[in-house]
Amino acid sequence: MALETDSPPDALAATGIFDGWLTGLTERIDAAGTETIDVRAPATDAVIGSIPRCTEDDVERAVESARSAQSSWAETPIDERSEILERFGDLVLKRRAELLDCLQLETGKSRRHAVEEVVDVAMACSYYADRGAEALGEDRRRGVFPLATTAHVTYEPVGVVGAISPWNYPLTLSLTDVLPALVAGNTVVLKPDEKTPYTALAMADLLERAGLPDGCFEIVTGRGATVGPALIDRVDYVSFTGSTETGRSVAERAGRNLIGCSLELGGKNPLLVLDDADVEEAARGAVQACFTNAGQLCLAAERLYVADAVYDEFLDAFVEETRRLTLGTGFDFADDVGSLIDGDQLERVESHVEDARDRGATVLTGGRRRPDVGPFCYEPTILTDVDPDATAACEETFGPVVSVESVPDVATGIERANDSDYGLNASVWTGNRTRGVAVAREIDCGTVCVNDAYISGWASVDAPMGGFGDSGLGRRHGREGIERYLESRTITTSRIGPLDAPPGIPVSWYARGMFALTRLQHRLPTVSSIERWLRNARF
Ligand code: NAD
Repeated sequence: MALETDSPPDALAATGIFDGWLTGLTERIDAAGTETIDVRAPATDAVIGSIPRCTEDDVERAVESARSAQSSWAETPIDERSEILERFGDLVLKRRAELLDCLQLETGKSRRHAVEEVVDVAMACSYYADRGAEALGEDRRRGVFPLATTAHVTYEPVGVVGAISPWNYPLTLSLTDVLPALVAGNTVVLKPDEKTPYTALAMADLLERAGLPDGCFEIVTGRGATVGPALIDRVDYVSFTGSTETGRSVAERAGRNLIGCSLELGGKNPLLVLDDADVEEAARGAVQACFTNAGQLCLAAERLYVADAVYDEFLDAFVEETRRLTLGTGFDFADDVGSLIDGDQLERVESHVEDARDRGATVLTGGRRRPDVGPFCYEPTILTDVDPDATAACEETFGPVVSVESVPDVATGIERANDSDYGLNASVWTGNRTRGVAVAREIDCGTVCVNDAYISGWASVDAPMGGFGDSGLGRRHGREGIERYLESRTITTSRIGPLDAPPGIPVSWYARGMFALTRLQHRLPTVSSIERWLRNARF
């Protein structure tokens, strides 16, 4: 099945990605049936192609293919696996213009926000290529009786990983979970969102060109409700990124199958401006935090708490910066904010704003759709006086809408920030970074960025990333992001035979000996107490 290229809209044809590369990529998907799903460009709502609507049998074949490739991939030396990742990262950078076109085409995002995805994936490739070997190395651990026994731990891949990804960052949010799985020796079956399959297909192509063997990275497309459960029933681990509601059903299914899962879910992220913040800088940061990717970013701020002392000044600067944003769907760097993904998302955003308005909120800027720019475009919107029961105050909007509230002191700001079932990302703005870190420690979120919106948290790939509460389970990135894909095996040895009463010794004597030994162990200094003592000693 090839990409339907007969009549792509002019503006999109002009991007050149129909000229070859993406055409025919859907043929990679091994689907037996003929049913398809149309893929639309949010910028125009025109159909740009169609993808197979995979069935359970198609998923079965994809997982089988990944399973038969897995053992030889796991036996491939880690250096070779890392080199493939490096080569893939180079290809991503080399093909960046086409990837940016593809991302813009299927998500409707502005080019400047598409750039974040391409850079992020290339950086993640270098990181995992560099650090993969370390996570896979064997560990020596303390045996139960140090001289008489030894213990060490080996790590091996879990097998076939199922990755399920959303539409808002189709490149980053697929690859950020796929790369560590591959470097750890797993094979992967990815189910991209049906609205944004082409970026995933382009990735499969580049991974193959980088030298990834057949079967190591399979893609299944289709409806989440069919393909998702079918995948979870067949793989050895599932990494899911999407809504909290779907995440719960993924966790239930993974639980029934007794497989591990990591869940990266929704957020209602707070941003705090403290009384000593540089107001202009905080306003610029807030614009980035709230309106990147038209607010369709899991880490985006939707609740702003601003110290009374700087409230008016901050609000003026924030509104001014926001009004300066340009809305557009061009394939160049001219526009700041792009389109929402589709009509459902537009309706959701609009209903949140209307509900807030009906309950007395003030719209300081924005608050309307812009069909003159694109069918799903909506203006960056700032609300104040939002009723605490309004949907915009309680639920994730996942759009360019933010409510701003003044708070009398830091303690109230922290309390308001923590008044949510979610806990994904927070941002704190202050003139004193030490104070910012102290506030960050009090906020119940998986990442807290001081004097930055979200990039320092997300792009520090060496540090774990994930959510508290309804924002998820498990962590991606860093060592933790690789370890979730590994099975550990502890191997112990004994130099003194079975650790049991020696022949001829009465069990009561043996028991007494064991109690004495345990008491002695309690009294002897522990390794960590010696280390602590050495650290504090002044020689
Ligand atoms: P969604 O949960 O509807 O869909 C996400 C993926 O799950 C898609 O590929 C979809 O096809 C699939 N899916 C749908 N039903 C399924 C099922 N029953 N079983 C298995 N898979 C199924 O999410 P969405 O609304 O498309 O995405 C937006 C949400 O994702 C927002 O809530 C956002 O905050 C969240 N998100 C979180 C992160 C993060 O890293 N924490 C990142 C991006 C988006």
